[in-house]
Amino acid sequence: MRENYTLTRLFLDMELAEGRSADLSKEQAHYLANVLRRAEGSELRVFNGKAGEWRAVVTDISRKSATLEVKTQLRAPKACPDIWLCFAPVKKHRNAFILEKATELGVAVLQPVITARTQHGKLRLDKMRGQIIEAAEQTERLDLPILQETTNLEKMIAEWPQDRILLFADEGGDAAPALPVLNDISAPAALLVGPEGGFTDKERGLLREQSFVKPVSLGPRILRADTAALSLLTLWQATQGDWR
Ligand code: SAH
Repeated sequence: MRENYTLTRLFLDMELAEGRSADLSKEQAHYLANVLRRAEGSELRVFNGKAGEWRAVVTDISRKSATLEVKTQLRAPKACPDIWLCFAPVKKHRNAFILEKATELGVAVLQPVITARTQHGKLRLDKMRGQIIEAAEQTERLDLPILQETTNLEKMIAEWPQDRILLFADEGGDAAPALPVLNDISAPAALLVGPEGGFTDKERGLLREQSFVKPVSLGPRILRADTAALSLLTLWQATQGDWR
């Protein structure tokens, strides 16, 4: 059984060490004071994505502000497996869904990539980071996925680290089934999923020319981009990641 599992977990963007005090953001203070109705002396857990997880105690709290004191370390740092998700941004709530679920599924890097048919490329990275943090708080992970600056497909391909396989979710119908491909790889990997309108033939051609790209199929039905991303991430975790 997981220890301290029921204690609320908060992300703090600061160094954590015994005896340190932390002023919470207005939103976090509101959450503790008004939603969870916590008082002075109440215990919780905090993490910063790097230093594991720590026990903390509320030393001062009002409706708009709260201060914690960091106590002992509960868990040592642990990173999620090294898997990247490159995804064409989609509609707002579906994008939020991708960020939340990919964080839960233990993604290490989130790379928004603009493709020819991307229609929702204006991204609020600060908002996206908030959604990632919220998901990480819920899901007990000790690191945060890295949210990269938005890039575009050509640039991403030109700058690609050649020793990393790019598994490209290709809805074209003639790609190899994903599971045997995943069972067969031994290099670090990244996953690529297109936007609502899919990839253009030109993009599919460009991708298929690259030695590091492996096109994969997720079956005979066309999935929404968010479903495709999470299905592929699930398969990767089961075959190559920490579900084994
Ligand atoms: N081009 C399609 C929809 C694209 S679905 C159309 O307009 O009809 C969005 C993305 O999800 C695709 O670009 C692809 O990356 C992924 N995807 C969806 N279904 C898939 C499947 N059966 N196999 C592989 N990838 C799929």
